[in-house]
Amino acid sequence: MATERTLSIIKPDATRRNLTGLINAKFEAAGLRIVAQRRIRLSQGQAEAFYGVHKERPFFAGLVSFMTSGPVVVQVLEGDDAVAANRRIMGATNPANAEPGTIRKEFAEDIEANSVHGSDSAENAAAEIAFFFTPDEIVG
Ligand code: ATP
Ligand code: MG
Repeated sequence: MATERTLSIIKPDATRRNLTGLINAKFEAAGLRIVAQRRIRLSQGQAEAFYGVHKERPFFAGLVSFMTSGPVVVQVLEGDDAVAANRRIMGATNPANAEPGTIRKEFAEDIEANSVHGSDSAENAAAEIAFFFTPDEIVG
């Protein structure tokens, strides 16, 4: 298995409910390491650019509004097959469909306020990590 890095975001519904530690405990228990981390408030422009792939979708405006509604924690996770491992630990987009034990099953409020983001491919992970972090901010 290859060591990879992926971008994770703890979303505003989770920071609001003080869940950052419980969420990161799941990543660490599964062997992923947090090698960069910052708590920020996304601007509208940043949220629109980050989720630009979804700009034609009916939920886009709501998603941007939600992602800018409170603090987020942006972080880089490192480990074996980190992109897929993070997605497994997160669970399905809609918490109603998420497996027991996943972050979204345990913590998500609904399909929009679903507590975490994770890159969906190695290529997107590289672009999303570079969106938030310079190489010197990532300490493995
Ligand atoms: P993310 O990209 O945040 O990791 P994902 O890859 O599981 O989530 P995407 O299809 O990329 O899901 O959707 C991006 C985000 O948009 C979702 O996590 C959720 O917050 C929101 N979203 C997706 N589908 C819907 C929907 N039908 N209604 C409302 N919000 C949605
Ligand atoms: Mg996605």
